[in-house]
Amino acid sequence: MATPIRTAAGFSGVDPPDDGWPPPRAPRPERLDRALDVLPGIGVTVAKRLSKLGLRTVGDLLRHVPFRYEPAAPELRIADLFGEEEAAISGVVVRVSKRRARRRLTIVTARIEDESGQIDAVWFNQEWLADKLPPGTHVRLRGQRKRNDFMVKSYDLGEAAQTADFAPVYPASEDVTTKRLRAFVESALPYVDDVPDLLPATLRARLELPIVRDAVFALHRPQSEEEAESGRRRLAFDELLELQLALALARRERDDAQAPALGDPGELLARYRDVLPFELTEHQERAIAELDHDLARTAPMQRLLQGDVGSGKTVVALYALLRAVERGYRGALMAPTETLAEQHFLTIEPLCAALGVTAALLTSSVKGDVDAQIVVGTHALIQEGVDLRELAVAVVDEQHRFGVEQRKALAEGRAAHVLHMTATPIPRTLALTLYGDLSVSEIAKPPANRKPIVTSWITQDRSSEAYTRLRRLLDEGRQAYVVCPVIEESETRQARAAEAEAERLRANELKGFRVGCLHGRLKTADRRALMAQFKARELDVLVATTVIEVGVDVPNATVMIVQEADRFGLAQLHQLRGRVGRGGEQSYCLLVSRSKDELTEPARARLEAMVATTDGFELAERDLEIRGEGELLGTRQSGPFGLRFASLRGDRDLLELARREAEGLAAEAGLLQDAVAAKAAAAAA
Ligand code: ADP
Ligand code: MG
Repeated sequence: MATPIRTAAGFSGVDPPDDGWPPPRAPRPERLDRALDVLPGIGVTVAKRLSKLGLRTVGDLLRHVPFRYEPAAPELRIADLFGEEEAAISGVVVRVSKRRARRRLTIVTARIEDESGQIDAVWFNQEWLADKLPPGTHVRLRGQRKRNDFMVKSYDLGEAAQTADFAPVYPASEDVTTKRLRAFVESALPYVDDVPDLLPATLRARLELPIVRDAVFALHRPQSEEEAESGRRRLAFDELLELQLALALARRERDDAQAPALGDPGELLARYRDVLPFELTEHQERAIAELDHDLARTAPMQRLLQGDVGSGKTVVALYALLRAVERGYRGALMAPTETLAEQHFLTIEPLCAALGVTAALLTSSVKGDVDAQIVVGTHALIQEGVDLRELAVAVVDEQHRFGVEQRKALAEGRAAHVLHMTATPIPRTLALTLYGDLSVSEIAKPPANRKPIVTSWITQDRSSEAYTRLRRLLDEGRQAYVVCPVIEESETRQARAAEAEAERLRANELKGFRVGCLHGRLKTADRRALMAQFKARELDVLVATTVIEVGVDVPNATVMIVQEADRFGLAQLHQLRGRVGRGGEQSYCLLVSRSKDELTEPARARLEAMVATTDGFELAERDLEIRGEGELLGTRQSGPFGLRFASLRGDRDLLELARREAEGLAAEAGLLQDAVAAKAAAAAA
């Protein structure tokens, strides 16, 4: 009989992999697509809660990446607890009590007994636990001895304990704890046999990477931190290789592809410059010169236009699109979300109208004129209707926010000049590694007449001051946004809360001002009408949910109040703040939070960072530091480019490796294709 090689304390239920490789049966990857309720203990309600964490299928659970592991702790008898080092103890509850120490502090104490002695185990602020610890309950606790008590860090009730060493700690939510997630992942583990290993064995051996099944297993049930890390690296490599392979294949196709040469800019572009209400900045001019150079050639342009929110990328993008129109071709702008597409459209459309150029919005819910000279839309553009052959220039906004599938479709042999735009600050060297032969244009400085946004942070009890300031600015003719707190449960509840808040403000703080309300539940036409009204200054204040996060562009809106700002992520706050400070007027961002002693350390750090700087790059760095641990609660599981295992910062070596391997694989695929084509040609002759 094979001896189990993993005996991590406390886990139960699944047989660990043994030495009997290869696996007993062939992988059946389709099993990974099963809905979560096929697993024991997961019914409709739990499945719904899990879906809020982005977990819908068995495969999703297997890919749920722990953000850390409980470190090893020695298993000690109560009598042997001396120092303050972390340890695990097991025993039975003798008695339990709870008390309120001060306003925000309740203490649950349970006397625990094992064969060697007794100790009082202590939990803070977990009142409800008292009922779960009747005398006689078996417990396994991890924590440290402090004076005569045992401060509990993690615990498990019942005889099958799960506070094992290196137990994974998962991104969790308020209604699905990491502990339950551990149990769910545990029951999904038998499916590791269904994860197909797509790396050629020779490559895997050369790079000394574990097989995929072991990697997934190690991710969830490692025997050491090193083992977990080696599993993660394997999965990260796969993901980076897929990304790089797609890029390499697209590059190879482009090598043969031809796009229309667009010559030099002419009369239409001269009129465009006249129509713009401002002079282009030096950085914008430089970007334009760079893309003019690309567009004059038949080799399709592949250029990345980087610049922080509000730096003026859209103006440059429209320039590129008009270059196509001028020569009788068409231009397309693709955005990852419908709202973003709409906002781009709102910006672009009036300018196009002034130039006599037709523009249309095309999303899955709006079907504009498919034959317009410039089409703006989501990926629906690619899927429906638009004849991409007449396309000479495509602008792709925030490509990293597109899913893998959409990106593949985008890359598929389109012989157009492509301009990628991004506001996600990625260091230049990294951008080059990621995008390969993409040329990079950067708008490093916003238009000069910009004054840095003045940001302040105040607590709830002083929020009336924020509104006093707001009213003064409104009286001066400025406009403002009030951003409502996040409600994760549902868009409908979020919308209702926003409506209620707008109503409340109309009756109180903002009495006499014209207040509109923008949320995700509005019909597209209503939302557009509302934005148009706001732009036309028919409204003073827009109470909004985070739907305004992207693309909204109303230069006269110079004040933003963010309610419960402590509940937003740093990137999100930066995006939100980017909605103001878009004109020449001084802009203000007021972050309102709960009282300081109610805030978590990371929340406080985020707000401090927002006050300290308006530089997107600095904030991105700060965000990574702050997130070091914890706080992943409720945030998106995957990072830019949909990466979930790989970190663009920490895995630079893997990224390089994946890039080299991808080149090789793409070349091989190319040779194969050529050979097949040659054979076919010979047969036809
Ligand atoms: P981004 O797309 O980079 O977030 P936008 O192109 O939307 O930025 O520009 C932000 C705001 O700055 C818009 O209101 C735009 O009209 C304005 N803007 C762009 N270029 C200039 C410029 N050269 N001078 C003054 N304002 C500008
Ligand atoms: Mg923009």
